[in-house]
Amino acid sequence: MKAPMPSLHVEHVPSAVQEVIQGLQAGGFRAFLVGGCVRDLLRGQLPKDFDVASSAKPADVQKLFKKVIPTGIEHGTVTIVVRGVHVEVTTFRAEAEYVDGRRPSKVEFHEDIEADLGRRDFTMNAIAWDPVSKELVDPFFGQVDLQAGIVRCVRDAMERFLEDGLRPLRAVRFATVLDFQLEPITEAAITQTLHVFRKVAQERVHQEFVKLLLAPSATRGLELLRRTGLLGEFLPEATLTEFEAVGRAPRDEVIRMALVLLGQPKAREVMVRLKFPTKSCDEVSALVTHVTLPDPASTDAQLRRWLARIDAVRAAPLLSLHEARGSLPDGFRARVEALLATAPPLTTRQLALDGKAIMTALGTGPSPAIGHATRHLLDLVLDDPSQNTPDALAAALGRWTPPK
Ligand code: ATP
Ligand code: MG
Repeated sequence: MKAPMPSLHVEHVPSAVQEVIQGLQAGGFRAFLVGGCVRDLLRGQLPKDFDVASSAKPADVQKLFKKVIPTGIEHGTVTIVVRGVHVEVTTFRAEAEYVDGRRPSKVEFHEDIEADLGRRDFTMNAIAWDPVSKELVDPFFGQVDLQAGIVRCVRDAMERFLEDGLRPLRAVRFATVLDFQLEPITEAAITQTLHVFRKVAQERVHQEFVKLLLAPSATRGLELLRRTGLLGEFLPEATLTEFEAVGRAPRDEVIRMALVLLGQPKAREVMVRLKFPTKSCDEVSALVTHVTLPDPASTDAQLRRWLARIDAVRAAPLLSLHEARGSLPDGFRARVEALLATAPPLTTRQLALDGKAIMTALGTGPSPAIGHATRHLLDLVLDDPSQNTPDALAAALGRWTPPK
């Protein structure tokens, strides 16, 4: 057993988490911090959440603590609530049988932490630390790989990936987010187990892919996905020539996915298939559709018409997208921003006369002519926003004849 690295300090563990571990140990059970939180602490980062692994079974935990939520009893997971803080505790387990790379078909509870660490994906995620006794359990030398910046499977890479087809994508995700290298045997195993990755539910793929996409090194991540063959499995439509731009773009899923799917007529379908939220599907599809910018020599009226057509809210992401690609004409951003700062009317809702007022001015009830009139007024104010007053618009209606 190795001595703890200097960055493991009990002060970095929230007191509620410490209390849970102490409570479990006082009840006669073993309890450790495991997984991502130990990895992050060893890297000198503050973890997002602290996962506890224990020899206590869910029923034991329920007896020891006042407030316990049965979040995933069948997998041995419960959530203890201490002063409003939620702490997940999972019973030591080893997942023996896997069916077709899906979720484990059977969960076996274990008495020892080593078995639990042995079912985890990568060596850096298979380290346990007891902040009370300061014991560190690192049977697969995760600390060595962490320090060397290597993503390496626990035990046999082929076996790990055949058990769970999501792990290859997780390997690439961690390599991207942490700027680590894929250990060569681990990388080779990805390409040899693509048939198992293919069966993984898109929801699980989505979660990992978004983390990769939003990483500062997303360009490298996408390239790793391509090189390993994963990209061809779940996103063959990706536009490789835009990968460089993705890493330069803001860390926003809409802008980055619009770049990944640039030139792709079925961008929306791909987004839906990848389980992005509907709003992101719509926005990516709109950005891809409206990607062409107007001529930089356009008049203000032409620019307002363009903003009206794309919807002004899309101007900012579109400018960022072009900036990332290096395809934003000089001075274009400043012009658009100056124009938007004047808050010109761009939609019929912004007209100084509403539908009712237009009907009154025309002396008619609801009819197709109202629609034509509204469109005519919008045309007018897009050309000249100073015309957007009730009087000017009413006068314009007086001069207007409905189309036959
Ligand atoms: P993040 O910081 O992104 O949350 P994480 O390591 O905490 O990273 P989680 O998905 O939260 O990742 O999983 C927590 C831990 O559970 C991992 O560190 C790993 O030990 C284990 N784990 C998660 N998913 C798998 C998997 N598919 N196969 C094996 N072990 C896994
Ligand atoms: Mg986590």
